[in-house]
Amino acid sequence: MSDRLPVVIAGAGPTGLMCALALRKQGIPVVLFEAEPALTHDLRAGSFHPPTLEMMAPYGITDKMHETGLKVQRWQIRNRPGDLIAEFNLDLLKDVTPYPYRLHLEQHRLTPIQLEILRRDPDVEINFGHTLKGFAQDADGVTVTFGTSGTDRTIKASWLIGADGGRSAVRKGLDVEFEGFTWPELFVVVSTPYDFAQHGFALNCYIADPVEWGALFKVPDDGPPGLWRLAYPVNPDESDEVLLAPERVEAALQRLVPTGKPYDIRYKSTYRVHQRVAASFRSGRVLLAGDAGHLNNPLGGFGLNSGIHDAINLSDKLARHWHGEPEDLLDLYSRQRRSATIEQVQAMSIRNKQTMEERDPAVQRTRLEELVAIANDPAKARQHLLNTSMISGLKRANEVK
Ligand SMILES: Cc1cc2nc3c(=O)[nH]c(=O)nc-3n(C[C@H](O)[C@H](O)[C@H](O)COP(=O)(O)OP(=O)(O)OC[C@H]3O[C@@H](n4cnc5c(N)ncnc54)[C@H](O)[C@@H]3O)c2cc1C
Repeated sequence: MSDRLPVVIAGAGPTGLMCALALRKQGIPVVLFEAEPALTHDLRAGSFHPPTLEMMAPYGITDKMHETGLKVQRWQIRNRPGDLIAEFNLDLLKDVTPYPYRLHLEQHRLTPIQLEILRRDPDVEINFGHTLKGFAQDADGVTVTFGTSGTDRTIKASWLIGADGGRSAVRKGLDVEFEGFTWPELFVVVSTPYDFAQHGFALNCYIADPVEWGALFKVPDDGPPGLWRLAYPVNPDESDEVLLAPERVEAALQRLVPTGKPYDIRYKSTYRVHQRVAASFRSGRVLLAGDAGHLNNPLGGFGLNSGIHDAINLSDKLARHWHGEPEDLLDLYSRQRRSATIEQVQAMSIRNKQTMEERDPAVQRTRLEELVAIANDPAKARQHLLNTSMISGLKRANEVK
């Protein structure tokens, strides 16, 4: 009767919350544990692709996100002086999705929506301030230990889902290889309310440059005027104090659009970027989802989206097993989502970064000319948008047997 024990989820980020919502929708008992005392509120992802919006719609999440999110129909590739190189319009996809745009909304505005909907369910147990410390599997389930303030709590689960982020204690506890590499450079992320749209910038732009490529996108913040967020690479040998010094950050923004007066800078931080995928997303009764299973650079906005895709795929298969189908469905989850991650997310995010940062001017010119040719041909542009919006990769991965 182990399957009547609850499913325990470690991590109340967007992936863990989505797993909880999707499992509860299928009547499965869920207990959710989150290490932090409340939802985290740091500067992270903020761009949602059409399939992700479609997946979250049945839960009422997508409608709620539209109340404050920014619809971004066009995205651009520019160079460092800021000149437009190519523009893509998601309107070309309006026959394949009800959401032919990217929706920009900060990750920390998504998770409260998910939590609020989850809390309406009286049968779901949500525990903040509980850090997963260890677990042990046997034939019946998984015994999981969480540390709370001062004491430990042990719970027996039918399945354990590790949705506990890039440093996942669940993944480490499984001793699963986290295959891939870490980029040598650090990324700086800065935010400003300065309106780049007045210079023709779309709300999402990638900036190609051999020295200082960048990614610029607008998020809603607390409401108009919103914030523009710029990410760019920096030397990892320098300290955060130096990299985030006001004059350094100011100079980076002035190199993008010289304004002749100081930018109003609201947030700034550095972070390290990895390209890694766990060797398996399943080991016995323990499953990995979201950043716990895979990490990628932010060019393309795939990280958070693929965590939601994991949650939906996993919950569907776990529910089917719960209701009587064979357990090897969970291996299929691992195969399908690893395939989507490796062939789509890793491949595209690495290629995007390499195109933006290419140091050989001739090679970069060729790559950018290819993108211009794609943008100028509606059939090719449509295929490019199906790929970059995660639609075709998701379809291919879901066909994996
Ligand atoms: C600094 C930064 C910037 C980013 N920028 C972008 C971006 O611009 N675009 C993009 O697409 N993606 C970006 N990402 C990636 C994106 O934010 C992630 O893909 C997304 O957060 C994945 O969600 P998740 O729920 O899987 O993991 P997380 O959001 O990391 O959530 C994991 C949760 O688990 C909790 N937890 C951790 N350990 C334990 C434990 N032992 N026990 C219990 N709970 C635990 C954490 O507190 C957290 O709440 C960024 C990530 C970082 C770190």
